[in-house]
Amino acid sequence: MCEKPAPMLSLEQALEKILNVIEPLEHIESKQIMDAFGQTLAEAICSPLNVPPYRNSAMDGYAVCGEDLPESGEVELKLIGTSWAGTPFDGEMKTGESVRIMTGAKMPEGADTVIMQEHIEKTDSGIRIGDTHKTGQNVRHIGEDIAEGGIVLEPGKSLKAAELGLLASLGIAEVKVRRPLKVAFFSTGDELRAVGEPLEDGQIYDSNRYTIFGMLKGLGVEIHDLGVIRDKREDVEAAFNKAADIADVVFTSGGVSVGDADYVKETLEKLGQVNLWKIAMKPGKPLAFGRIGQAWFFGLPGNPVSAMATFYQVALPALRKLMGQTEVMPLTLKVPTLDSLKKRPGRLDFQRGILDYEKDQLVVRSIGPQGSHILSGMSRANCFIVIPAESGTVEAGTVVEVQPFASLMSA
Ligand code: AMP
Ligand code: MG
Repeated sequence: MCEKPAPMLSLEQALEKILNVIEPLEHIESKQIMDAFGQTLAEAICSPLNVPPYRNSAMDGYAVCGEDLPESGEVELKLIGTSWAGTPFDGEMKTGESVRIMTGAKMPEGADTVIMQEHIEKTDSGIRIGDTHKTGQNVRHIGEDIAEGGIVLEPGKSLKAAELGLLASLGIAEVKVRRPLKVAFFSTGDELRAVGEPLEDGQIYDSNRYTIFGMLKGLGVEIHDLGVIRDKREDVEAAFNKAADIADVVFTSGGVSVGDADYVKETLEKLGQVNLWKIAMKPGKPLAFGRIGQAWFFGLPGNPVSAMATFYQVALPALRKLMGQTEVMPLTLKVPTLDSLKKRPGRLDFQRGILDYEKDQLVVRSIGPQGSHILSGMSRANCFIVIPAESGTVEAGTVVEVQPFASLMSA
């Protein structure tokens, strides 16, 4: 395991290995829909009703019979009542008649067409309309949005704002979802200090715990922050044991590259079945993946941009699969690059870029220096520019693949 030289894998191979062994969390629970926000649906939702449930008006206007519409000239119709949203007109409408109707109000029996209120002229006993209207216009039909019995949401869908609203529109108060994923993380490294502590020579602040926290927060999982762990054998071991006890997934950052002088690798050998890989991607070469006790483990590289890139590209699809989501891969777009992008053939590159508009066309620019320690660039960027492993420097004007950051989190 950990003593062997780390094999070099493509990102695709690493993802395949990980996604092949990870299965969605089994525990399923029933939740009120607001409490289920961010969780993954564990059942198919069939509509118990038609939406809309009755024919209604798309406009404020007048309900009329199509056969009364004049082919030319004008016609006068008698006004016999009003249909309000929530208080329908309860009579029947005959030819030669009209009913004042509000948006969303039920269409009266006999009416099949709505004339916008701006298109009528009021008369003493009703309305006058011209010859520019079509039978059936401005009417929303029963089941037009969703038909009764039809599947509206498939299992594996992450419940976000639109889904909560959709469920509510069907009168569904409770759904079956997979339980929230529990994730624990800590940082190790003798050079690291937590914010709030003074920095001495040769020390830096731990930032990975904060980026990991933020990325997990965006995913809606239950978070357990175990802090910065000093590089002492017993402390590292205790942190791993605690993390594996409370969480489904444990993240660490740092300590997995060749030549690391800390106890992460040693402890992993003792406590778990963990593979140490080199992934042919940039940033983010070293990665540890495996199991510690009942928990899955990801050892991210220490460099701040590498930790984020590996989280997004390798860990995120795995977390989504664990959560039961079916759409686990990020959205990619193809856009021309305004800048030349320096690269050597060899590794799949996730350069940081800025998606922008230039003369009405979506384009991407580089953020500039691409060092894996330059976290400020990650903040200025709004996308990864994905450059294939075999590619060399990409000339300005070339169409490249980009992954908007927004799409990495909001599936
Ligand atoms: P390592 O993989 O432990 O050799 O770390 C690689 C680089 O990332 C080193 O420069 C570390 O100081 C830095 N690093 C490791 N962990 C963190 C962290 N939690 N926050 C910020 N930088 C880190
Ligand atoms: Mg280290």
